[in-house]
Amino acid sequence: MLDCIIVGSGPAGISAALTLQANRKSFMIFGGKHLSEKVEKAEKIHNYPGLSDVSGKTFLEALQGQLSDAEIDITEEKVGGVYVLKEGFTVLTQDGKTYESRTVILACGVENIKGIEGEESFFGRGVSYCATCDGFLYKGKTIAVLCTSKRLEHEIGFLAGYAKQIYLIPMYKNVEITGENITRVVQMPKAIVGDKRVEKLVFATAIDENFGKELPIDGIFMLKESLSPAILVGGLEMENGHVKVTRTLSTNLPGLYAAGDCTGRPYQHAKAVGEGNVAAHSVSEFLR
Ligand SMILES: Cc1cc2nc3c(=O)[nH]c(=O)nc-3n(C[C@H](O)[C@H](O)[C@H](O)COP(=O)(O)OP(=O)(O)OC[C@H]3O[C@@H](n4cnc5c(N)ncnc54)[C@H](O)[C@@H]3O)c2cc1C
Repeated sequence: MLDCIIVGSGPAGISAALTLQANRKSFMIFGGKHLSEKVEKAEKIHNYPGLSDVSGKTFLEALQGQLSDAEIDITEEKVGGVYVLKEGFTVLTQDGKTYESRTVILACGVENIKGIEGEESFFGRGVSYCATCDGFLYKGKTIAVLCTSKRLEHEIGFLAGYAKQIYLIPMYKNVEITGENITRVVQMPKAIVGDKRVEKLVFATAIDENFGKELPIDGIFMLKESLSPAILVGGLEMENGHVKVTRTLSTNLPGLYAAGDCTGRPYQHAKAVGEGNVAAHSVSEFLR
């Protein structure tokens, strides 16, 4: 069993990984080789000590270089769930692989896209966050897919292989994916509505003459870079949409820590790396 699993490869997760390595702990860090879309997007970072007016891209390259020098590998899998064991945690990836560790640090950032009404209450009843886990359930069915990043377009293609009809709501520019069964909808839905399961999406204004303000669907996939920590970890205490943490970055679940944007504002690199460092030291202390 590993000492720790870090969920997220942004500044918070990387800082935690470097500190865990210095503390000689065994760990894995899940995310992407691109590390963080948010870091990449910053035109200029003015407020990071020691680096004046560095671009997000340059900062990202420096982080990648540091990881490579330290021989820390990012595991390119998306974590779909973290489950509490009697001693430790099981981490399930969206590819269906499982990993065990004594502790977990959530450094998954925050998703800027506001949730849709009904999203949380219909989770597992027609709302899914994982194309590869649940796509087969929608063979021959009509689904909506809300996708927040071009990097996730391949998951839309995967779903198109199963569904009869996909209504794609892209939240990114330069949409490339097309298909006979893919129809684009250029309006964000207001609510997900149904009785026992998802039945339709409701929009503020008519989307076209065929459907008006309502779109009947069998399910909706929310393809996001960052899942809400509350969805990742059952029983995790949240406060105003963020993970509730103490000064040591511990959560209400013993052995589970959180760092970076997911613990609340300010959303800044300096806070994220500081918290990643504190969370890793707290993990080391917990293991002792
Ligand atoms: C345009 C823009 C400009 C900015 N400019 C500045 C600035 O000038 N100065 C400053 O201090 N801050 C700036 N920020 C904010 C800064 O980028 C964030 O505060 C910082 O990136 C937070 O780091 P983090 O590690 O908490 O999260 P993130 O950087 O968001 O990293 C989280 C990572 O975890 C991954 N992840 C999430 N869930 C999972 C999962 N389930 N499985 C696997 N991986 C997962 C995500 O894909 C992501 O790569 C800016 C942000 C933006 C968007």
